[in-house]
Amino acid sequence: MDGCLFTDTSPFKCFRCGRGYSVQYTLERHLRYECGVAKQFSCEVCLRKFSRRDILRNHEKKFSHHSSHSTV
Ligand SMILES: [Zn+2]
Ligand SMILES: [Zn+2]
Repeated sequence: MDGCLFTDTSPFKCFRCGRGYSVQYTLERHLRYECGVAKQFSCEVCLRKFSRRDILRNHEKKFSHHSSHSTV
């Protein structure tokens, strides 16, 4: 009865940020690459930083400012 908002069925909880994961591997990956880890992958264009390279890749795909400086 502590008004917990995290009522999902994820048995693996991150002890740092409280995020829940259904698979232990995902939690371990979160702890290793996301939670409390310095974001080491930065976008050279907009200087945003990301914790994982695939997230940076996703960002580069999402925002087309990397491919061309076309329409403003
Ligand atoms: Zn965490
Ligand atoms: Zn960018």
